[in-house]
Amino acid sequence: MKMKGYTGKILKVDLTTEKSHARPFDEKHARKYLGGQGFAVEIVYHGVPKGADPLGPQNVLAMAGGVFDGFPVGTGGKVAFAAKSPATNTLAESIMGGSIGPELRHAGYDALEIVGKAESPSYLYIENERIEVKDAADLWGKDTRQVPEMLKKRHGWDVKVACIGVAGEKLSKIASIDCDDRQAGRAGLGAVMGSKNLKAIVIRGTNDLVPAEPKKLLGIAFRYQKIYEAAPSFIEDTKYGTGEFLGWINKEKGVFPTRNFQESVFAEREKIDPYYWAPKYVTKNKACFACTKPCGKLFEVKSGKFAGVAIDGIEYETLYSLGGACGNSDVESVARANELCDLLGMDTISAGVTIGFAMELMQRGIITEKDVGFKLTWDNASDAVPRMVEMMGNRRGFGDVLADGVKVAAKKIGKGAERYAVHTKGLEPPAYDVRGMKGHGLAYMTSTRGACHLRAGFYAPELVGKFWKWEGIDRASTANKGFMVSQTENFMCVYDSVGLCKFSRGFYLIAKLPEVIEAITGLTFTEDELLKIGERIHNMKGAFNAREGVTRKDWLLPPRILQDPIPEGPSKGQKISVEEMNTMLDDYMKARGWTMDGVPTPEKLKELDID
Ligand code: SF4
Repeated sequence: MKMKGYTGKILKVDLTTEKSHARPFDEKHARKYLGGQGFAVEIVYHGVPKGADPLGPQNVLAMAGGVFDGFPVGTGGKVAFAAKSPATNTLAESIMGGSIGPELRHAGYDALEIVGKAESPSYLYIENERIEVKDAADLWGKDTRQVPEMLKKRHGWDVKVACIGVAGEKLSKIASIDCDDRQAGRAGLGAVMGSKNLKAIVIRGTNDLVPAEPKKLLGIAFRYQKIYEAAPSFIEDTKYGTGEFLGWINKEKGVFPTRNFQESVFAEREKIDPYYWAPKYVTKNKACFACTKPCGKLFEVKSGKFAGVAIDGIEYETLYSLGGACGNSDVESVARANELCDLLGMDTISAGVTIGFAMELMQRGIITEKDVGFKLTWDNASDAVPRMVEMMGNRRGFGDVLADGVKVAAKKIGKGAERYAVHTKGLEPPAYDVRGMKGHGLAYMTSTRGACHLRAGFYAPELVGKFWKWEGIDRASTANKGFMVSQTENFMCVYDSVGLCKFSRGFYLIAKLPEVIEAITGLTFTEDELLKIGERIHNMKGAFNAREGVTRKDWLLPPRILQDPIPEGPSKGQKISVEEMNTMLDDYMKARGWTMDGVPTPEKLKELDID
């Protein structure tokens, strides 16, 4: 019997042979991995051989739409990409809000598995059963706005396009994948596409997706839309976007990383805070595909040296990475640097943190103006930051040294640069100074793709002080953090598998998800069963990483977090000591049922039915 809400097929395309094959999956598979991240992780876990070069043909790039993709569930259109990351050598996923996931499902596939390597620059064209690997010679070297425009002219304006920019072609380990001005930014998955000579994925899907209970699903969709609109946060979210909390995190909590984590309060914050810039620069709201509470913004600069900049942004993380982390208080410059990252196809977090790191090196005399070619200094940030982004994306001059992120750059530069490199597992951290948020610091270590705010989302419980069944969470304490982080990681795996935006997780706490999943698929789950799926997905990532030799010794926090206390502001004096780090890690391993080295045990894998 055909499953409802799923297409029941996974499409595998071999770029080397240009052959494709759709394999069916059954209800057992759906119950085990749900969809989205779960499907993508399963494909990479089973498809990538041990020791495979992340930039070699043996790596697998997976893409999967969530369970909600293609159905009228507000903010439920996210798509997951996954592969072995060239930045971290771990199984990394990156979630995006573009239309490509729902379109894949309309084409008849819940997931896509791309293996091999095309002989020359190519793009993948999928139109229902028609699968072709096509020549992309004319697209190579083009940016992420030009590519979809050219492909839509060629194939029709209704096709959906995910593509890479020049940074992905040049195998930058911080390269992203772009679709509809949204990015799967983290962990260098754009370089995996580039390594396969794959410039773009183009999809047209014309099949209907049939939910199990259409009337019930529509009722749920209306109900949640009303809940969204009645929430006090709705107006703030739609007016100021993800940057709405910048002032609070900076001034009241004092955990806004500034000048490469040398400070945690950005004194010039008002210049980059959307409460101040939104009225001047935002010309309209923008949303991810199928979102009914748009937090995205069209930010336009009409005059001055950055006139002509028009971007979907600026997101909170980017205000930090290309703003505060680089000491850059010129919001127009941040917007230009954001635009260059998007066009060249580079993750804004990784790019900005890497530039901020290099700026500190110049401050300390480890690199000089002669090495870089210009003043990469805090007082020259407005000009220097966009200029360096452009050089990194094109691997020009000193940009080539920085193009693979902080960890690689520190190694290339030497001279003690590693002391100032802030990352875990090779991934640059997002916009929270974890010296003042110990549990979130643990989450940076345990995140399977390296320092990440979204693998556990633990910044929210620690900043607000409560989440789910927990009250009185103290961000300065290590107590119980191992257990809580392990649980929130399981939560997040579930959200990323149904395809729900994490901006909506407060509305859909885990107990609310079963009725939506049932209306779409007809499958019933309890809250505990969903969390078990989340646990399974996280364990698969952990087991993959352990197999690749990435264990506890590689998870540790960098010297800046362990040795330099926050110098000023509301979190003054805070840091995570080595002892606290080890206590939290021990607690986490126990909560997970893993060895103290961070390896999932055979018993745990058996319990979760992972082969
Ligand atoms: S709330 Fe914002 S990030 Fe989430 S789906 Fe909507 S536009 Fe995208």
